[in-house]
Amino acid sequence: MRIGRAAAVTDTGRRRLRNEDAFVCEPPLFAVADGMGGARAGEIAARLAAAALEEAGARVRGPEGIAASIAEANRRIWERSRADPQTAGMGTTVTAALVDPETGTVAIGHVGDSRAYLLREGTLEQLTTDHSLVAELVESGVLTPEEAERHPQRSAITRALGTEPTVEVDAFTVQGRPGDLFLLCSDGLSSMVPDDEVAAAIAAAGSDPARAAEALVAAANARGGEDNVTVVLFELLAEEPPAEAADAGAQAQALEPEPPGGGDQPPLSSAPAPEAELPVPAPTRHGAGPGGRLGALLLIGAALGAALLLLYWGVAR
Ligand code: MG
Repeated sequence: MRIGRAAAVTDTGRRRLRNEDAFVCEPPLFAVADGMGGARAGEIAARLAAAALEEAGARVRGPEGIAASIAEANRRIWERSRADPQTAGMGTTVTAALVDPETGTVAIGHVGDSRAYLLREGTLEQLTTDHSLVAELVESGVLTPEEAERHPQRSAITRALGTEPTVEVDAFTVQGRPGDLFLLCSDGLSSMVPDDEVAAAIAAAGSDPARAAEALVAAANARGGEDNVTVVLFELLAEEPPAEAADAGAQAQALEPEPPGGGDQPPLSSAPAPEAELPVPAPTRHGAGPGGRLGALLLIGAALGAALLLLYWGVAR
């Protein structure tokens, strides 16, 4: 398995003055973070989360690795908010995906109400569970999913990064398949655009991550753009034939004997034509006429003579 195309777009939307979302699009690591807090604190929290993930990105593996990265991000945001009163109470969501191309698995780590989706064979599946008030009310049967979508408290989250010294992280693994398209997004997309329209927009973009990302942000804004909107998309593809095999093919082609240059040359019976087996650079080869071959034979003869002489010396002493 390998990671194919990837793209990310973030947009302030139509109502907010600032963009407090952040993202990571550094294959094999992808993430979105949706900050909250007064002044510019939300922006700071989201950026701290993205930076902590990016920093750990290349080193960690699997759901435990991504959970540890998120826990470290939590610690940094918490400590910053304790040290800087202007950022007190800041927090952020985070939804991260880490691909292991060797096994084709995708580790997902998640806190808050940003989401990870998987589009497989035309079906969009939400992989993460929102840590939000309305999701809990739906879970306990108090609200229907439709009521939750219109609920005034729908953006209230019950778990965030940086608001407590420690955080509980949802972490799990999804087995990827060639052709899978993963979508990470902030609630600026999922609260504005229903899932079936998200799937339709990606299909209309031919599942091209860059085009789909633009289309999804445009869809959120067309529906009011009430929040910052961030989308990150990446695709998984089948492994390409190894590069060495392609190289070997090219070499084999280069080694194919060229048609003989002079048809009137006498065949050399004493030695098999060396140029048919050895990768001789083309100019030398073209330069080797009958004189060249004679020269080569003389050289071989001289070398043999020298070897015999040395052997004779060795025996005689
Ligand atoms: Mg948001």
